[in-house]
Amino acid sequence: MKRLLLASTIAASWASLGVAGALPASGVAPRASCAGLTGLTLPNAQILSATQKSGYCNVIGIINKRTSTQDPDHFTYGIGFALNLPNTWHGRFEMMGGGGTDGSLRSDPTGAAGVELAQGWAIAADDGGHEDSPNSLLGSYQDDDANAGGSAHFAIDAQARSDYGYNGIEKTATISKQIIAQYYGLEAGFSYIMGCSNGGRDAMVASQKFPFLFDGVISQNPGFNLPQAGLAEAWNEQVLGTLATGKDANGQPFIPDTFPPQDLQVASAAILSVCDALDGLVDGIIDNYHACTNKKVFPALANYTCGIGPHGSTPHGGTCLTSAQVGALKKIYAGPVNSDGERLYSNWFWDAGIWTPPSAGGAGWGAWNVVTAPVPGVNTAINLTLGAGALPMIFQTPPVVTPVGGPAGQEAYVFHFNFDTDAPNIFTETKAYPESSMDFMAAVSTDLSPFKRHGGKLIISSSVNDGIFSGAAIARWYRKMNRRMGGDAGDFARLFMVPNMAHCGGGAATDSFAENELNAITAWVENGVAPKRIVAANRNTSSPYPPGGLFDPQVARNFPAGGTRPLCPYPQTAAYKGTGLTNDAANFACVDPQFKPDDDDNDNEHHGSRGQEGR
Ligand code: CA
Repeated sequence: MKRLLLASTIAASWASLGVAGALPASGVAPRASCAGLTGLTLPNAQILSATQKSGYCNVIGIINKRTSTQDPDHFTYGIGFALNLPNTWHGRFEMMGGGGTDGSLRSDPTGAAGVELAQGWAIAADDGGHEDSPNSLLGSYQDDDANAGGSAHFAIDAQARSDYGYNGIEKTATISKQIIAQYYGLEAGFSYIMGCSNGGRDAMVASQKFPFLFDGVISQNPGFNLPQAGLAEAWNEQVLGTLATGKDANGQPFIPDTFPPQDLQVASAAILSVCDALDGLVDGIIDNYHACTNKKVFPALANYTCGIGPHGSTPHGGTCLTSAQVGALKKIYAGPVNSDGERLYSNWFWDAGIWTPPSAGGAGWGAWNVVTAPVPGVNTAINLTLGAGALPMIFQTPPVVTPVGGPAGQEAYVFHFNFDTDAPNIFTETKAYPESSMDFMAAVSTDLSPFKRHGGKLIISSSVNDGIFSGAAIARWYRKMNRRMGGDAGDFARLFMVPNMAHCGGGAATDSFAENELNAITAWVENGVAPKRIVAANRNTSSPYPPGGLFDPQVARNFPAGGTRPLCPYPQTAAYKGTGLTNDAANFACVDPQFKPDDDDNDNEHHGSRGQEGR
C-alpha cells in the first residue's frame, strides 16, 4: 500500500515543479491517453474501462471482486468505483460519499460534483461494495434477494459490511490517488470528501478512521450514529403505530392516517407559537433551538389539543391535535429508551420543520416517519422501507434475515423490535461477524487529534431536526468532541445547524448553501481562512406560510422568501440585527445564544436518566 504524503510534502512537490503556490492556475494535462489506463496494474483491483468523454476521462474499476462463501446465495461482491479525470486538472481530488444503503455506482458526477469536475477537480465515487441491480459497467452482478433482506442483503457477508461501513471509501480514495499520480505525473495537491446522509457518515468516518486520507471533509446531515438512529426509526414507528386505526397489507399498523400533513402543520404552528420569537424575530424559523425546551413546548401542545385549548375540537381538522397525538410526539421527541429508561439514541430539538409545506420539497419529518407517496393499504414511510431493511440486516449482529414483504417481513420486524433484547445487538460481535454495526458504521469518536495533526479541516452541516437524524445528537457530539480536544475544536472543525431543513435539503428553509460550503472548505484547507458564517439561500420566492390562519401574519412577512440567511458555527445562532430586510443575510449576526449544556452531554454513560429530553 502506498504511503500517503502529507499535504505539506505534496505542496513542496508542487513547488518543486516551479508552479506558483499549490495549485497551478493553468492546470495540468494528462501525460498519457485515457484508454491507456486500462493497462494499469493495481493490487487486487482491475480497471474495467477507461473512456474519454467530453472534457474528462471516465475510469470504471473494481476492487477485490470475489464470490462470497458466507452468503448462501454466493453472490458476487466487490468495491465498484468510478474516477473521473478532467482534461485540465487543477490539482484537487474529491471523493463523493454514498447514500442510503449504497449499492449503486454514480459513474459520472452530476450536480455539485459535476460542476467541480468541470472546474478541473478529479472526482471519485464507489458503490459501497455491492450492487442492488445489475450494472453492465461492472459485469452485471447484483446482491439483492427479496427473500433475504432485499437491497440490504449484502450485510449477510461480513466483508461486504466492512466495505459498506468504511472500506469502500478508503480503498477507492487510495487507488484513485494512485491513478491520478500515474495519469498526470503528479500527486493530488488537496484531497476532499463530501457527502450527505450516509455519505455524510462516510465523510465523518474518514476523518476518524483515515485521518491522513483527506485534507478537507464536508459532512452534511451525517448519519454518524446510524445504528442508534435506526433504533429511533423503529421507536417512532411503534409509537405512531399506537395511533393507527387500520392495518396495512402486511397486517401491520397503517401509519399514514396517524399524522396527516394538516396535523403536522398544527404541530409546527404550536411549536412556533412559543419558540419562533426566542431568536428575536417572528419568521417561521426557530434559530434559538436550544431555548425551545419542553417547558415551553408542552404547554403549547396542550393549547393546541382538540377540545382542551382554544383551537377547536375536530381531530385531523387542521386546527388541533388529539391528546394521543400530543402524547406520541412527546414520546418520539424524547427519543428511544429501554424499559430501564436508558436512552438508546438521543432526544430531538423541537423544530418547525416537522411540517414540510407542499411547495418546499425534500424528505421531511413526515416522509421519514409517516408517508411518502400515499398508496392505499401500503406503508411508505422511509423508516418502514429503507429503514426496515437496514435495522435487521445491517444494524443487528448477526444479521436477522427476513423477506422484504409479507407478514413476517421487514416491516413486521420493525413493529416487533424489542428495545431491551434487540437494541443491544448493535454492539454485538460474533466469530462470523467480527465487527459490530457500531464498529463498522459509526463515527462517534470524540478524539480527532490525528486528523487535526494532519492539518485536516471538517465542516459539518445538519438540519436542526430532519426526521431521521437528530440535530441534538450531532450538537451533543460536537460539544463532547470540543471538550475532548481542549475547547478549541473550532480551529479545525465547525458545525452549522440549519433550522427547518428536511433531510439533505428541502423544507421551508435556507437550504441552498452547498457551493458556499465548498468554497468555505477550500478556503480553510488551502488558505487557512476559517468560515465565520456560511451564507445560505432559500430559492423559493414565496413564503409557504399564508398570512393569518394557523400562523401569525408576521411569520409570512419575515420569512426569507427568495432571500438569504447566515448559517453560524455552533453554538452560535443567527440573530436579526433589528433593521433592514429580513431576507438578507447581511442583516443577521452570528451570536452566542448563551446555551449552557448540562450533564445531558454525558447521556451515553449516564444510565437511568429516564431519557429526559431537557436541554
Ligand atoms: Ca424566529
